[in-house]
Amino acid sequence: MEKIKMTTPLVEMDGDEMTRILWKQIKDEVILPFVDLKTEYYDLGLVHREETKDQVTVDAANANKKYGVAVKCATITPNAQRVQEYNLSQMWKSPNGTIRATLDGTVFRAPIMVKGISPVVRTWKQPITIARHAYGDVYRATEYRVPGPGKAELVFTSDDHRRTAHWQTVHRFEGPGVLQAQFNTDKSITSFAHSCFQYALSTKQDLWFSTKDTISKQYDHTFKDIFQEIYEAEYKEKFEALGIEYFYTLIDDAVARVIRSKGGFIWACKNYDGDVMSDMVSTAFGSLAMMTSVLVSPDGNYEYEAAHGTVTRHYYKYLKGEETSTNPVATLFAWSGALRKRGELDGIEALGRFADVLEKATIDTIESGVMTGDLCAMWEGETPARKVTSLAFLREIRSRMEQELA
Ligand code: NAP
Ligand code: MG
Repeated sequence: MEKIKMTTPLVEMDGDEMTRILWKQIKDEVILPFVDLKTEYYDLGLVHREETKDQVTVDAANANKKYGVAVKCATITPNAQRVQEYNLSQMWKSPNGTIRATLDGTVFRAPIMVKGISPVVRTWKQPITIARHAYGDVYRATEYRVPGPGKAELVFTSDDHRRTAHWQTVHRFEGPGVLQAQFNTDKSITSFAHSCFQYALSTKQDLWFSTKDTISKQYDHTFKDIFQEIYEAEYKEKFEALGIEYFYTLIDDAVARVIRSKGGFIWACKNYDGDVMSDMVSTAFGSLAMMTSVLVSPDGNYEYEAAHGTVTRHYYKYLKGEETSTNPVATLFAWSGALRKRGELDGIEALGRFADVLEKATIDTIESGVMTGDLCAMWEGETPARKVTSLAFLREIRSRMEQELA
């Protein structure tokens, strides 16, 4: 069989622990036998981040901007315990944070559905994709624990320094309390909107957007207005041509509609709503190991990743020589997503076809009853579940691919 040729390299970001082991197994078993893989490799494993003083993360993020498409392995976000474990000179920042800051993106997460594992919500028949704005709001807030009586004020001083452009009393405290200031920028909200509209077009799905604009008449209302203006100016005709819809509704109404829905749409959420709702939606669909996750920037850069972490507990078992049955599906779909997008951008149809075959073989394998341990507990299929190691699972996928591609 002749291997599929690539023209532009994928930006490959390697990672840590169990997912680093899976990374190599995936490449060896289901990618390299079929694709003449071309990547620009960045080792984001914590050891190399320390060696390069985290420069490798910055370089990888810039390469993502240069080439457009990256695939990323899960990485450790250091905490105090990791600083000791890896003898770090500094508590390096989250690589995902660095990459998001460079690309200015929106994170899209969607469940991978298989027959035999049903969503908790019975009406859901198709995936629900959450589009999470990954900038500002409570994640960049300034907070204060008010000690006792006093007055809280909101002051904005314009850049010309000649006058205070805005001043407002927030609250007259009679005793202790709490205080918080949040912000966002038109620039970031605008790119969030473009990412959502473009993702809806590229996946041909309806787009829902929800905030609490009836209560937050300046803050949330600005999000609503920016989305509406951009939609009408740049996307309305394209949506209509594809027969898809954009609509805005209040967050509480959206929650009720989501639960009653059949799925098959994108739900755009502000940063906090997206954080919370994506955990709810992913859990209701089954598992984080059965989710795709992609960061999309408004200028058309893509970073594909798994939604879960480095699966530390399994890694320690692996180091002791025990067999592990870690689910590689989310990482596998990060590869197929990235290769499909690369093929699309470079006009290499065979890459897209390969990604389809890889994904179908993965789903068929699970539906035939062969799966990793995490899925066995949820399995309701007719054939009894056969729990296999990650490697055996990948080999099963490979043999299905060989039949399909022969
Ligand atoms: P985790 O790696 O997602 O694992 C939590 C638990 O979820 C695992 O112990 C395992 O449960 C289950 N699990 C997750 N992925 C699985 C898979 N593919 N197959 C089977 N089971 C899976 O989260 P964590 O333990 O909180 O974090 C570990 C490290 O990952 C941390 O250093 C954190 O910084 C990092 N992290 C990275 C990313 C990222 O790079 N995107 C995201 C989150 C966390 P059982 O043990 O019950 O089998
Ligand atoms: Mg969360």
